[in-house]
Amino acid sequence: MDRSRLAINQITTPSWSLKDAIDNYAKLDIAGIGIWRDKLTELGTAKTRQMLDATGLFVPSLCKTGDIAKLDIIGKNAALDDCRKAIDEAAEIGAPVVVFVGGGCGTRSLTDARKRVGEVLSQASEHARTVGVDIGLEPFHPMHAAERGCINTLSQACELRQEIGNEVAVILDVFHCWWDPALTSHLEKATQLGVASAHLCDWRVPTRDPVMDRAMPGDGAADISGFIRQLEVSGYNGPYEFEIFSADWAARDPIEVVHICLERYDRYCQEV
Ligand code: ZN
Repeated sequence: MDRSRLAINQITTPSWSLKDAIDNYAKLDIAGIGIWRDKLTELGTAKTRQMLDATGLFVPSLCKTGDIAKLDIIGKNAALDDCRKAIDEAAEIGAPVVVFVGGGCGTRSLTDARKRVGEVLSQASEHARTVGVDIGLEPFHPMHAAERGCINTLSQACELRQEIGNEVAVILDVFHCWWDPALTSHLEKATQLGVASAHLCDWRVPTRDPVMDRAMPGDGAADISGFIRQLEVSGYNGPYEFEIFSADWAARDPIEVVHICLERYDRYCQEV
């Protein structure tokens, strides 16, 4: 592991505009930036690509598409259209993967909602293959099944990949999967399973909010060293992306936050 694989997801420093995040990450020796589509509209894809090329930052993934239950309310093809659009945007900025979250179950049963995720992924996979961008399915912690993500285990994500094809990659997020009973067996075969990016953060004890209360890696209940070690042993050579959704961390000086991410990353590099 070296710093060339270190990225920060811009949700970790939400007070910065996309332009400031790109400039500051590059200045502070961060190799990559996870970009959000709402932030992308600040600059547009062409200008963003220009800035990325000028600074040399890589983009591990573009966040996000999915949210099927919400998009289905808008129209029959809205979820598929959004997914295709996200794939195009990812291609335009040079991101190899677009993060796909599935969305909650809405008014469907959980079983039907999961079937619908498979349907949209399958329909979108053709476009992904044509464009050359993977769809990174991110299983969500089960507490989010109703509202944010109805694919909850690594096994479910891997089954969808097997059914649909290699355009469906897997995003491993510590917050969402640290508890998964099958975590170890999945980490051991991470490369076969198409792990496209590993999102680093930690499970704060106690967790006070389902979304905005993640901890910095090393400050919570998850075994981050074990997580990284097993990934490395499996042959994983993809990015590690710090993704700290947290009201506490968002309120701190973003430069300090980036320094802490860097310090933690260096520590894990030495430990592993
Ligand atoms: Zn994530």
